[in-house]
Amino acid sequence: MRTDPNIIITGTPGTGKTTHSEALAERTGLRHISVNQVVKDRECHEGWDEEFSSWIVDDDKLLDALEEDNVKAGGCIIDWHGCEIFPESWIDLVVVLRVDSSTLYDRLSERKYSETKLQENLDSEIMEVLLQEARDSYDEQIVVELTSNSVDDMESNIDRIEAWITQWKKDHADESEA
Ligand code: ADP
Repeated sequence: MRTDPNIIITGTPGTGKTTHSEALAERTGLRHISVNQVVKDRECHEGWDEEFSSWIVDDDKLLDALEEDNVKAGGCIIDWHGCEIFPESWIDLVVVLRVDSSTLYDRLSERKYSETKLQENLDSEIMEVLLQEARDSYDEQIVVELTSNSVDDMESNIDRIEAWITQWKKDHADESEA
């Protein structure tokens, strides 16, 4: 039984996962787990993909590392551009961030992504790849799609997720008392 929820913040690179996760962690005291950082620091990969400038992730090693960090005990904000590998039993809410193509183009261009990587990510956002992955992997009731085009969007998203966390904790405290 978790006393704090586990939340996945997912979406195409550039949609605002890290920015949202950091702000939420600061506000709520939950632990921000940057999965990219875990992959890199704990070497949960089979090398570097030059074309896409990203690690080739070893899912088993990654899950072992997250298990070692006791993620399933709760209280984590899991920040990653994927969500299907986490056991359903670990997760209480899946937030999928979405942005307009022109906004995403500007954000990714600023990162100096290669043309291949930029195009792949724009296509992925247009095709709703992450939203579909979330819907295929988790109960639809725990999957929420939120827009992240502007700072106002972000502030209202953070307020909403924080309110959800407060309610979740209240409900689960009531359950454990019952
Ligand atoms: P991700 O972790 O999904 O790759 P980041 O959180 O690193 O995305 O955000 C990418 C860039 O976009 C950063 O420069 C960030 O400040 C900006 N950004 C993210 N979300 C928003 C938003 N809702 N409004 C304005 N800028 C944003």
